[in-house]
Amino acid sequence: MESGMSKIDEVMEIKALRRVISAYLNYTAAAEEDIKRWERSFTKLSSSHKALLRHLPKKHEELRRCVRVNSFFIINMLQAFDPPFDMGDGGGGLDTQDLTPERDSNIPSANCNKRQAIESNMQGKVPKSEILEPVKSSSTGTIRSCDEWSATLAQARAEEQGEALGRKIEDNMPKDSTRESVGNGEAMGADMKHFSLKLDAYNGLDLDHPSYQLHVPSADVDKVRCIIRNIVRDWGEEGMTERAQCYAPILQELQLCFPHRSQESPPSCLVPGAGLGRLACEISRLGFITQGNEFSYYMLMCSSFILNQTQAPLEWTLYPWIHSNCNSLTNEDQLRAVQFPDLHPGSAGITEGFSMCAGDFVEVYSHPSQAEAWDAVVSCFFIDTAHNIVEYLEVIAKALKPGGVWINLGPLLYHFADAHSYSQEEEMSIELSLEDVKMVASHYGLILKKESMIETTYTANCKSMMQNRYFASFWTMVKEQGPGLQDNLPLEPLSNHRNCEH
Ligand code: SAH
Repeated sequence: MESGMSKIDEVMEIKALRRVISAYLNYTAAAEEDIKRWERSFTKLSSSHKALLRHLPKKHEELRRCVRVNSFFIINMLQAFDPPFDMGDGGGGLDTQDLTPERDSNIPSANCNKRQAIESNMQGKVPKSEILEPVKSSSTGTIRSCDEWSATLAQARAEEQGEALGRKIEDNMPKDSTRESVGNGEAMGADMKHFSLKLDAYNGLDLDHPSYQLHVPSADVDKVRCIIRNIVRDWGEEGMTERAQCYAPILQELQLCFPHRSQESPPSCLVPGAGLGRLACEISRLGFITQGNEFSYYMLMCSSFILNQTQAPLEWTLYPWIHSNCNSLTNEDQLRAVQFPDLHPGSAGITEGFSMCAGDFVEVYSHPSQAEAWDAVVSCFFIDTAHNIVEYLEVIAKALKPGGVWINLGPLLYHFADAHSYSQEEEMSIELSLEDVKMVASHYGLILKKESMIETTYTANCKSMMQNRYFASFWTMVKEQGPGLQDNLPLEPLSNHRNCEH
């Protein structure tokens, strides 16, 4: 890897990535273990009870079929992943087998906040900033498809040799457009590299490589299951309700704040904690040069696949709800399929310059080159992921241009608040009330323009008998104007959701 990353950092990163890949690879075996356990319980029933429930063995077989379908997607996603490192490298001599044993096995799983399960441990996060371009930036919005992959590779090599490029392929070539178009230039620092499209070094993933774990902590497999639920939220037809609750008000507000978006010089928007990228994708479709930022490899691998490699709407099927027998009204509910993506990113009208930046938000955007770089910052279910929310607010404020807009939606379920219950090390966690968050924001020159509460779920199974509901805070803040700048933000509250003006 040609970044300014030290060898030790690179080795740690390879290790973290291997752990994530191992978790994905262990998905099938872990699901099979669950089904076997359910079968064992069934065999313990008396014969009369068995007779009463004689449909259950069939259900178990059906669950197995669903697991195979899910595994098919996962394997396709892994195979399409172009790692930013040479994963065949022995890890620079570090022991790759020392997975932290069940470090976060106490994380509440099925019945609790799934967000935490993905985020709650440093493994599987990208420690250094990387940049990947999830969507090919071209005026036509074309992106690479799987079939074009090898053609693109060949063409890339041809380009290296100075040969002419055909128009179609040229449109599918990766460009460093993000950095240029949002004026980041050298801004992101030496560590920023393209990640999904390292054409010259492409070697794909050797999924049989012995460095991948045969057994992983159950918490890691839980994270894979969380990703599946996140797919529903961001890209499933079924996720439409949640997206209408969370993303629609944000998008509406963004359009109100930027009513006149020039095609020649589109406004720029940063989406920290972008998850699987749907919100960033929608913002891009509205005509913003958009950059998602995300540090979880679980998320990044999956968003890269959906954004870059899906070829048609509803191309993929998953059975997201098979992993729990609890709170199902019917077996059919539990066994229902979800198809995705409901929107094909490749033909969705993406604005040129859409990118995903892989790395820690604070690390990347506190870089001096990011100062006053963004017209808008949009965060959704993100700010409570901070160890130090004050730092997040400071970075957001500094990264905004004067007069720039911060739209935020989410609860304050501080991610590290109960880290002491599962982490060996004490994690810093600054847990502020909403009023204190607003006070800190105002200290950094963020002026509250609108505020309301939005009732929503997060990766909920809409047919479950149990649903966690959030009363999420939704606000628009504007960074103090420099002298002579105009504040053009409408002050009237939004009309399509409940307002709780304080
Ligand atoms: N905005 C998305 C995802 C919310 S979950 C949605 O609404 O669905 C919060 C996301 O922030 C997770 O994907 C997590 O991996 C990411 N995240 C947490 N801390 C981060 C950090 N310091 N830098 C970048 N991403 C972070």
